[in-house]
Amino acid sequence: MDIRITKSNSSRLNDVDFENLPFGKLFSDHMFVADYYDGKWHNPRIEPFHNFSLHPATMALHYGQAIFEGMKASKSKDGTPMLFRPEMHAQRMNRSAHRICMPSIPEDLFVEAVTKLVQIDQGWIPPIEGSALYIRPTLIATDEFIGVKPSQSYKFFIITGPVGPYYPKPVRLLAETKYVRAVIGGTGEAKAAGNYGGALLPAKLAQEKGYDQVLWLDAKEFKYIQECGTMNIFFVIDGKVITPPLYGTILNGITRLSTIELLKDEGYEVEEYPLTIDEVVEAYKKGTLQEAFGTGTAAVVSHIEAISYKDMVIEFPNPGKGKVGEFVKHTIDQLRSGSIADTRGWTVKVPVEETMEV
Ligand SMILES: *Cc1c(COP(=O)(O)O)cnc(C)c1O
Repeated sequence: MDIRITKSNSSRLNDVDFENLPFGKLFSDHMFVADYYDGKWHNPRIEPFHNFSLHPATMALHYGQAIFEGMKASKSKDGTPMLFRPEMHAQRMNRSAHRICMPSIPEDLFVEAVTKLVQIDQGWIPPIEGSALYIRPTLIATDEFIGVKPSQSYKFFIITGPVGPYYPKPVRLLAETKYVRAVIGGTGEAKAAGNYGGALLPAKLAQEKGYDQVLWLDAKEFKYIQECGTMNIFFVIDGKVITPPLYGTILNGITRLSTIELLKDEGYEVEEYPLTIDEVVEAYKKGTLQEAFGTGTAAVVSHIEAISYKDMVIEFPNPGKGKVGEFVKHTIDQLRSGSIADTRGWTVKVPVEETMEV
Protein backbone atom coordinates (compact mmCIF):
# COMPACT_ATOMS: atom_id res chain seq x y z
CA MET A 1 0.00 0.00 0.00
CA ASP A 2 1.45 3.36 -0.97
CA ILE A 3 1.47 6.02 1.70
CA ARG A 4 0.49 9.42 0.31
CA ILE A 5 2.57 12.21 1.80
CA THR A 6 1.52 15.83 2.26
CA LYS A 7 4.16 17.87 3.99
CA SER A 8 3.59 20.76 6.31
CA ASN A 9 4.58 24.18 4.94
CA SER A 10 6.07 25.30 8.22
CA SER A 11 7.71 23.51 11.15
CA ARG A 12 7.17 24.11 14.87
CA LEU A 13 10.57 22.56 15.60
CA ASN A 14 12.31 25.88 16.27
CA ASP A 15 10.10 26.47 19.32
CA VAL A 16 11.18 23.23 21.00
CA ASP A 17 13.61 23.26 23.94
CA PHE A 18 15.11 19.75 23.86
CA GLU A 19 16.71 20.29 27.28
CA ASN A 20 13.33 20.74 28.98
CA LEU A 21 10.82 18.42 27.43
CA PRO A 22 7.49 17.96 29.19
CA PHE A 23 6.32 14.33 28.74
CA GLY A 24 3.46 13.88 26.30
CA LYS A 25 2.67 17.51 25.60
CA LEU A 26 4.62 18.24 22.43
CA PHE A 27 3.79 16.74 19.07
CA SER A 28 5.82 16.71 15.89
CA ASP A 29 4.84 18.31 12.57
CA HIS A 30 3.23 15.28 10.91
CA MET A 31 0.92 12.36 11.62
CA PHE A 32 -0.10 9.17 9.87
CA VAL A 33 -3.78 8.33 9.25
CA ALA A 34 -5.59 5.42 7.55
CA ASP A 35 -9.29 4.56 7.46
CA TYR A 36 -11.00 1.20 7.60
CA TYR A 37 -14.43 0.60 6.06
CA ASP A 38 -16.11 -1.95 3.77
CA GLY A 39 -13.80 -4.56 5.31
CA LYS A 40 -10.58 -2.91 4.04
CA TRP A 41 -7.95 -0.31 4.88
CA HIS A 42 -8.08 2.82 2.72
CA ASN A 43 -6.02 5.91 1.99
CA PRO A 44 -2.93 5.53 4.19
CA ARG A 45 -1.41 9.02 4.39
CA ILE A 46 1.01 11.26 6.22
CA GLU A 47 -0.30 14.77 6.73
CA PRO A 48 0.48 17.87 8.74
CA PHE A 49 -0.52 17.30 12.37
CA HIS A 50 -4.17 18.23 12.78
CA ASN A 51 -7.25 17.77 14.96
CA PHE A 52 -9.98 15.31 14.08
CA SER A 53 -13.61 16.27 13.81
CA LEU A 54 -15.66 13.51 15.47
CA HIS A 55 -19.40 12.89 15.61
CA PRO A 56 -20.53 12.82 19.27
CA ALA A 57 -21.78 9.24 18.80
CA THR A 58 -18.35 8.04 17.60
CA MET A 59 -18.28 4.54 19.06
CA ALA A 60 -14.75 4.70 20.50
CA LEU A 61 -15.96 7.41 22.88
CA HIS A 62 -18.78 5.26 24.27
CA TYR A 63 -17.88 1.59 24.19
CA GLY A 64 -14.13 1.48 24.62
CA GLN A 65 -13.03 0.18 21.23
CA ALA A 66 -9.72 2.00 21.45
CA ILE A 67 -6.24 0.48 21.61
CA PHE A 68 -2.74 1.85 21.28
CA GLU A 69 0.97 1.14 21.21
CA GLY A 70 3.92 2.98 22.68
CA MET A 71 7.33 2.87 21.03
CA LYS A 72 10.35 5.10 20.59
CA ALA A 73 12.74 6.28 17.91
CA SER A 74 16.24 7.21 18.94
CA LYS A 75 19.28 8.47 17.03
CA SER A 76 22.50 6.56 16.62
CA LYS A 77 25.82 8.35 17.13
CA ASP A 78 26.06 9.01 13.37
CA GLY A 79 22.58 10.56 13.33
CA THR A 80 20.64 7.62 11.88
CA PRO A 81 17.14 7.31 13.35
CA MET A 82 16.53 3.87 14.84
CA LEU A 83 13.44 1.91 15.86
CA PHE A 84 13.42 -0.84 18.47
CA ARG A 85 11.66 -4.07 17.48
CA PRO A 86 8.88 -2.31 15.51
CA GLU A 87 7.43 -5.59 14.20
CA MET A 88 6.81 -6.70 17.79
CA HIS A 89 4.71 -3.59 18.35
CA ALA A 90 2.77 -4.29 15.15
CA GLN A 91 2.10 -7.86 16.30
CA ARG A 92 1.03 -6.77 19.78
CA MET A 93 -1.27 -4.11 18.33
CA ASN A 94 -2.98 -6.86 16.34
CA ARG A 95 -3.34 -9.07 19.42
CA SER A 96 -4.92 -6.12 21.24
CA ALA A 97 -7.17 -5.49 18.21
CA HIS A 98 -8.30 -9.12 18.21
CA ARG A 99 -9.28 -8.98 21.92
CA ILE A 100 -11.29 -5.77 21.48
CA CYS A 101 -12.92 -7.04 18.27
CA MET A 102 -11.18 -4.59 15.97
CA PRO A 103 -9.64 -5.23 12.51
CA SER A 104 -5.97 -6.07 12.27
CA ILE A 105 -3.50 -3.76 10.59
CA PRO A 106 -1.17 -5.35 8.02
CA GLU A 107 2.17 -5.65 9.81
CA ASP A 108 4.10 -4.14 6.90
CA LEU A 109 1.72 -1.16 6.73
CA PHE A 110 2.26 -0.52 10.46
CA VAL A 111 6.05 -0.71 10.18
CA GLU A 112 6.16 1.32 6.95
CA ALA A 113 3.90 4.01 8.44
CA VAL A 114 6.08 4.34 11.56
CA THR A 115 9.27 4.34 9.48
CA LYS A 116 8.08 7.00 7.01
CA LEU A 117 6.69 9.21 9.75
CA VAL A 118 9.94 9.05 11.73
CA GLN A 119 11.92 9.72 8.57
CA ILE A 120 9.90 12.85 7.79
CA ASP A 121 10.02 14.13 11.38
CA GLN A 122 13.54 12.89 12.21
CA GLY A 123 14.53 16.44 13.22
CA TRP A 124 12.19 15.92 16.20
CA ILE A 125 14.31 13.12 17.67
CA PRO A 126 16.09 14.84 20.57
CA PRO A 127 19.89 14.76 20.14
CA ILE A 128 20.32 14.02 23.86
CA GLU A 129 21.06 10.67 25.47
CA GLY A 130 18.08 9.13 27.22
CA SER A 131 15.70 11.34 25.23
CA ALA A 132 13.73 10.00 22.27
CA LEU A 133 10.84 10.52 19.92
CA TYR A 134 7.85 8.78 21.50
CA ILE A 135 5.55 7.13 18.96
CA ARG A 136 1.89 6.51 19.67
CA PRO A 137 0.04 4.30 17.14
CA THR A 138 -3.68 4.31 17.98
CA LEU A 139 -6.73 2.49 16.62
CA ILE A 140 -10.26 3.75 17.34
CA ALA A 141 -13.79 2.76 16.33
CA THR A 142 -15.46 5.46 14.25
CA ASP A 143 -19.02 4.30 13.49
CA GLU A 144 -21.52 6.96 14.50
CA PHE A 145 -23.87 4.76 16.43
CA ILE A 146 -25.39 4.34 19.87
CA GLY A 147 -25.65 0.65 20.79
CA VAL A 148 -23.18 -1.98 21.86
CA LYS A 149 -21.72 -3.90 18.93
CA PRO A 150 -18.38 -3.88 17.10
CA SER A 151 -17.96 -0.83 14.88
CA GLN A 152 -17.71 -1.34 11.10
CA SER A 153 -15.33 1.57 10.56
CA TYR A 154 -12.06 2.50 12.24
CA LYS A 155 -9.30 5.04 12.15
CA PHE A 156 -5.65 4.10 12.63
CA PHE A 157 -3.39 7.03 13.37
CA ILE A 158 0.14 7.58 14.58
CA ILE A 159 1.35 10.67 16.36
CA THR A 160 4.85 11.31 17.71
CA GLY A 161 6.44 13.69 20.17
CA PRO A 162 9.89 14.32 21.68
CA VAL A 163 10.37 13.15 25.28
CA GLY A 164 13.15 13.51 27.81
CA PRO A 165 14.30 10.74 30.16
CA TYR A 166 11.23 9.32 31.92
CA TYR A 167 11.20 8.58 35.68
CA PRO A 168 14.74 9.75 36.31
CA LYS A 169 14.35 9.01 40.03
CA PRO A 170 13.91 5.58 41.65
CA VAL A 171 10.21 4.92 42.29
CA ARG A 172 8.29 4.10 45.46
CA LEU A 173 5.46 1.60 45.01
CA LEU A 174 2.32 0.91 46.99
CA ALA A 175 1.15 -2.72 46.79
CA GLU A 176 -2.59 -2.38 46.17
CA THR A 177 -4.83 -4.50 48.39
CA LYS A 178 -8.25 -3.09 47.46
CA TYR A 179 -8.37 -2.26 43.74
CA VAL A 180 -7.27 -4.43 40.79
CA ARG A 181 -6.06 -3.65 37.26
CA ALA A 182 -7.01 -6.84 35.45
CA VAL A 183 -8.65 -10.21 35.95
CA ILE A 184 -7.95 -13.57 34.32
CA GLY A 185 -10.09 -13.73 31.18
CA GLY A 186 -10.28 -9.94 31.04
CA THR A 187 -8.44 -7.45 28.85
CA GLY A 188 -5.29 -6.90 30.92
CA GLU A 189 -2.98 -8.25 28.24
CA ALA A 190 -4.34 -5.84 25.62
CA LYS A 191 -3.00 -2.30 25.37
CA ALA A 192 -6.61 -1.14 25.48
CA ALA A 193 -7.55 2.42 26.46
CA GLY A 194 -10.20 1.05 28.83
CA ASN A 195 -7.59 -0.59 31.06
CA TYR A 196 -6.08 2.75 32.03
CA GLY A 197 -9.21 4.61 33.17
CA GLY A 198 -9.77 2.11 35.95
CA ALA A 199 -6.20 2.44 37.17
CA LEU A 200 -6.35 6.21 37.67
CA LEU A 201 -8.10 6.31 41.05
CA PRO A 202 -5.81 3.79 42.77
CA ALA A 203 -2.79 5.61 41.31
CA LYS A 204 -4.09 8.94 42.57
CA LEU A 205 -4.71 7.53 46.06
CA ALA A 206 -1.20 6.03 46.09
CA GLN A 207 0.28 9.38 45.10
CA GLU A 208 -1.61 11.10 47.89
CA LYS A 209 0.13 8.71 50.28
CA GLY A 210 3.52 9.62 48.84
CA TYR A 211 4.01 6.77 46.36
CA ASP A 212 4.78 7.13 42.66
CA GLN A 213 2.99 4.07 41.34
CA VAL A 214 0.77 1.16 42.29
CA LEU A 215 2.16 -2.36 42.49
CA TRP A 216 -0.71 -4.50 41.21
CA LEU A 217 -1.51 -7.82 42.86
CA ASP A 218 -3.76 -10.52 41.38
CA ALA A 219 -7.51 -9.93 41.47
CA LYS A 220 -8.46 -13.15 43.22
CA GLU A 221 -6.19 -13.50 46.23
CA PHE A 222 -4.24 -10.21 46.30
CA LYS A 223 -1.16 -12.32 46.57
CA TYR A 224 0.58 -12.75 43.23
CA ILE A 225 2.63 -9.84 41.95
CA GLN A 226 1.51 -8.57 38.53
CA GLU A 227 3.16 -5.36 37.34
CA CYS A 228 3.53 -1.75 38.37
CA GLY A 229 1.92 1.32 36.84
CA THR A 230 2.67 0.87 33.16
CA MET A 231 5.75 -1.27 33.65
CA ASN A 232 6.51 -4.96 34.03
CA ILE A 233 8.39 -5.82 37.19
CA PHE A 234 11.56 -7.77 37.96
CA PHE A 235 13.00 -8.82 41.32
CA VAL A 236 16.50 -10.02 42.11
CA ILE A 237 16.48 -12.47 45.01
CA ASP A 238 19.65 -14.29 46.03
CA GLY A 239 21.24 -13.63 42.65
CA LYS A 240 18.27 -15.01 40.72
CA VAL A 241 16.13 -12.74 38.50
CA ILE A 242 12.38 -13.30 38.83
CA THR A 243 9.50 -11.83 36.85
CA PRO A 244 5.83 -12.89 36.94
CA PRO A 245 4.65 -15.09 34.05
CA LEU A 246 2.08 -13.72 31.58
CA TYR A 247 -1.13 -14.78 33.30
CA GLY A 248 -3.25 -12.99 30.69
CA THR A 249 -3.59 -10.18 33.21
CA ILE A 250 -0.17 -8.67 32.54
CA LEU A 251 0.83 -6.54 29.60
CA ASN A 252 3.22 -8.51 27.43
CA GLY A 253 5.98 -5.90 27.48
CA ILE A 254 8.52 -5.83 24.69
CA THR A 255 11.07 -4.43 27.15
CA ARG A 256 10.20 -7.34 29.48
CA LEU A 257 10.90 -9.90 26.74
CA SER A 258 14.10 -8.13 25.74
CA THR A 259 15.22 -7.96 29.39
CA ILE A 260 14.69 -11.70 29.89
CA GLU A 261 16.68 -12.47 26.76
CA LEU A 262 19.52 -10.06 27.55
CA LEU A 263 19.91 -11.35 31.10
CA LYS A 264 19.84 -15.00 30.06
CA ASP A 265 22.49 -14.29 27.41
CA GLU A 266 24.57 -12.59 30.10
CA GLY A 267 24.46 -15.76 32.18
CA TYR A 268 21.86 -14.73 34.73
CA GLU A 269 19.36 -17.26 35.97
CA VAL A 270 16.00 -15.76 34.97
CA GLU A 271 12.74 -17.33 36.03
CA GLU A 272 9.18 -16.49 35.00
CA TYR A 273 7.60 -17.51 38.24
CA PRO A 274 4.32 -16.64 40.05
CA LEU A 275 5.98 -14.68 42.81
CA THR A 276 3.87 -13.65 45.81
CA ILE A 277 4.24 -10.45 47.77
CA ASP A 278 4.81 -12.59 50.89
CA GLU A 279 7.86 -14.18 49.27
CA VAL A 280 9.25 -10.70 48.61
CA VAL A 281 8.63 -9.73 52.25
CA GLU A 282 10.31 -12.94 53.40
CA ALA A 283 13.35 -12.38 51.18
CA TYR A 284 13.57 -8.83 52.54
CA LYS A 285 13.55 -10.12 56.13
CA LYS A 286 16.16 -12.75 55.32
CA GLY A 287 18.33 -10.18 53.58
CA THR A 288 18.26 -11.93 50.18
CA LEU A 289 16.17 -9.30 48.40
CA GLN A 290 18.71 -7.43 46.32
CA GLU A 291 16.90 -5.34 43.79
CA ALA A 292 13.67 -4.61 41.93
CA PHE A 293 13.01 -2.66 38.78
CA GLY A 294 10.24 -1.93 36.32
CA THR A 295 10.61 -2.23 32.54
CA GLY A 296 8.77 -0.40 29.77
CA THR A 297 9.40 1.54 26.60
CA ALA A 298 8.95 4.90 28.29
CA ALA A 299 11.64 4.51 30.98
CA VAL A 300 13.41 1.33 29.75
CA VAL A 301 14.25 0.58 33.41
CA SER A 302 12.96 2.29 36.54
CA HIS A 303 14.71 1.30 39.71
CA ILE A 304 12.44 0.64 42.66
CA GLU A 305 13.37 2.31 45.91
CA ALA A 306 10.66 0.97 48.19
CA ILE A 307 7.47 -1.09 48.25
CA SER A 308 4.80 -0.50 50.85
CA TYR A 309 2.62 -3.52 51.64
CA LYS A 310 -0.02 -3.38 54.37
CA ASP A 311 1.76 -1.88 57.37
CA MET A 312 5.33 -2.52 56.30
CA VAL A 313 7.75 -0.81 53.96
CA ILE A 314 10.38 -2.77 52.05
CA GLU A 315 13.35 -0.52 51.43
CA PHE A 316 15.85 -1.59 48.79
CA PRO A 317 19.57 -1.28 49.38
CA ASN A 318 21.28 1.19 47.03
CA PRO A 319 18.11 2.34 45.29
CA GLY A 320 18.90 3.49 41.78
CA LYS A 321 22.11 1.49 41.66
CA GLY A 322 20.79 -2.04 41.26
CA LYS A 323 23.38 -3.91 39.26
CA VAL A 324 20.98 -5.99 37.17
CA GLY A 325 18.61 -3.13 36.33
CA GLU A 326 21.55 -0.89 35.46
CA PHE A 327 22.95 -3.55 33.15
CA VAL A 328 19.61 -3.85 31.31
CA LYS A 329 19.14 -0.09 31.04
CA HIS A 330 22.66 0.49 29.86
CA THR A 331 22.54 -2.32 27.31
CA ILE A 332 19.19 -1.30 25.82
CA ASP A 333 20.26 2.38 25.73
CA GLN A 334 23.48 1.38 23.97
CA LEU A 335 21.59 -0.75 21.46
CA ARG A 336 19.25 2.18 20.80
CA SER A 337 22.14 4.54 20.21
CA GLY A 338 24.06 2.02 18.13
CA SER A 339 27.06 2.14 20.49
CA ILE A 340 27.17 -1.65 20.73
CA ALA A 341 26.67 -4.19 17.98
CA ASP A 342 23.08 -5.37 17.63
CA THR A 343 23.60 -9.09 17.23
CA ARG A 344 19.91 -9.90 17.63
CA GLY A 345 18.49 -7.67 14.93
CA TRP A 346 16.38 -5.69 17.40
CA THR A 347 17.09 -2.25 16.02
CA VAL A 348 15.87 -1.09 12.63
CA LYS A 349 17.56 1.83 10.91
CA VAL A 350 15.30 4.43 9.34
CA PRO A 351 16.80 5.65 6.05
CA VAL A 352 17.88 9.27 6.52
CA GLU A 353 17.17 10.16 2.90
CA GLU A 354 13.71 9.80 1.56
CA THR A 355 13.37 7.21 -1.14
CA MET A 356 11.23 8.00 -4.16
CA GLU A 357 7.72 6.63 -3.84
CA VAL A 358 7.05 4.24 -6.71
C1 LIG B 1 2.98 -0.63 27.66
C2 LIG B 1 2.89 -1.26 29.00
C3 LIG B 1 3.97 -1.98 29.58
C4 LIG B 1 5.34 -2.03 28.97
O1 LIG B 1 5.39 -2.58 27.71
P1 LIG B 1 6.63 -2.26 26.74
O2 LIG B 1 6.31 -2.98 25.49
O3 LIG B 1 7.84 -2.78 27.41
O4 LIG B 1 6.68 -0.77 26.58
C5 LIG B 1 3.74 -2.62 30.78
N1 LIG B 1 2.55 -2.55 31.41
C6 LIG B 1 1.51 -1.85 30.90
C7 LIG B 1 0.22 -1.84 31.63
C8 LIG B 1 1.66 -1.17 29.69
O5 LIG B 1 0.65 -0.47 29.19
